[in-house]
Amino acid sequence: MPRFIFCTGGVVSSVGKGVTAASIGRILKARGLKVMIQKLDPYLNVDPGTMSPYQHGEVFVTVDGAETDLDLGHYERFIDENLNSVCNVTTGQIYNEVIAKERRGDYLGGTIQVIPHITNEIKRRVYEVGKSQDVDIVIVEVGGTVGDIEGQPFFETLRQMRSELGRKNTMFVHVTFLPYIGATGELKTKPTQHSVRELRSIGIQPHVIIARSDHEVSDEIAHKIALFCDVDVEAVIPLVTTDNLYKVPLMLEEANLGDYIMRYFGLEQVEPDLGEWRRIVKKMRNNADSVKIAIVGKYVELHDAYMSVKEALAHATIPTDHRLEIEWVYSGDLEKGKGFEKLENVDGIVVPGGFGYRGIEGKIQAARYARENNIPYLGLCLGMQVMCIEFARNVLDMEDANSTEFETPTDHPVIDLMLDQRGITNMGGTMRLGVYPCVLTPGTKAARAYGVDRVDERHRHRFEFNNAFREDFLKGGMVFSGLSPDEQLVEIAELKAHPFMVGSQFHPEFQSRPTRPHPLFLDFIKSSIAFSKTRKKVPLKQEV
Ligand code: GLN
Repeated sequence: MPRFIFCTGGVVSSVGKGVTAASIGRILKARGLKVMIQKLDPYLNVDPGTMSPYQHGEVFVTVDGAETDLDLGHYERFIDENLNSVCNVTTGQIYNEVIAKERRGDYLGGTIQVIPHITNEIKRRVYEVGKSQDVDIVIVEVGGTVGDIEGQPFFETLRQMRSELGRKNTMFVHVTFLPYIGATGELKTKPTQHSVRELRSIGIQPHVIIARSDHEVSDEIAHKIALFCDVDVEAVIPLVTTDNLYKVPLMLEEANLGDYIMRYFGLEQVEPDLGEWRRIVKKMRNNADSVKIAIVGKYVELHDAYMSVKEALAHATIPTDHRLEIEWVYSGDLEKGKGFEKLENVDGIVVPGGFGYRGIEGKIQAARYARENNIPYLGLCLGMQVMCIEFARNVLDMEDANSTEFETPTDHPVIDLMLDQRGITNMGGTMRLGVYPCVLTPGTKAARAYGVDRVDERHRHRFEFNNAFREDFLKGGMVFSGLSPDEQLVEIAELKAHPFMVGSQFHPEFQSRPTRPHPLFLDFIKSSIAFSKTRKKVPLKQEV
């Protein structure tokens, strides 16, 4: 049976509980332990797949095709493990399951209640994560903050697990926030004390308090928290806001949290191996030259919507000795002829994934700008589709070329609904999701980037390249550098006569790790660095 670390939050949300949980995972992995991380989300949606990015930020896709919370992206990047669908549990999933059982008659006439039926189903899923033989530690993060009505069944479940497994096998880590009062220049511990009181009222006493703060936390404050919240003073871990989230494991290590957890669980103390992590953080900070990449999207005021893309770009700059600078470009502006001056000053352009027509014409303009001016371009899912639409319209003279997601009918539906998506009316979890194989075409930019014949990549889409147009595209100079093994599905497209214009139907950003940048991102960044050295400001050739 693995040990469980339950990560709860108090005072306010959005203080980086996900990154903290991921960082605890990293410092334990550095001690040779196998770690898995799970997120419990108290909302009623079955998964975030149907939620607007304004509500939820990015939807992270696991290998087995679950649409999950973006914190799972942090977990995977920090602990370098592939997580799966059981690693994100929502209230919606729990109720769905319990009510379906009730309708089947599985409860033999019993009255179905939050305790024990809902809590048992939550518990079953928490235990499930630790089932595989080799897992030493399961970290479970509860979304939201203690005191939220919808979170109660989750906290109650963890309380029960603590009784079942005993103190030696369970640890509660509570992440709080210390507000700063400008007038007196002090940090306040009272909200932390109140949130711990709230936890205690449901029967949970935390063992570690991570005190997030925008200012240095004095020993005096740490002692005060220890005293009022009844935790060891060495288990009060100040965590001051940092500009680089990859520093967080090093900050926790510095505060001796790793040793504390090992001692608590009675595990043998070992010297943590964080050497590679330290090198990465140092390089991210010290690289003097920067490479400037535009992300052209419709949620650019909301960077969380492109979390994995942003991180994958940053990872790729590490081995190239550059610092990443992102230029956020709103595609809606490009449609109105605005914002092109931003593109004039970038070394590469990324068009990430997306849904719906808003901003599409601007993304098509961005693809055209990249093609005509030889600016490296990386298209991710929708970004690959707009690259094809642009090529059809402006190179192959198919003026009305479009995706049937945006326009039906069109004489040139170069992107069309996948066959097995036809007739689907239920929107939740029905896209082409998760890992599928892709066979690379030798001699192409994509094959060179990967350096292998076949790859597995994660997908989340309903539309695909329309094979009726393959011949025309090939004649025009497009290369299909990645196909499904039966050759029926275009997985990667690229332009022959361009330094780097590559689009993938899948999402390579989900597989990038700081320790292992994704090959397509890496070659894109390398091309962007090469382009930056010869950058000429070529005016846009098109009428907008
Ligand atoms: N909307 C497109 C599709 O469904 C692209 C999806 C995406 O970018 N993830 O195929």
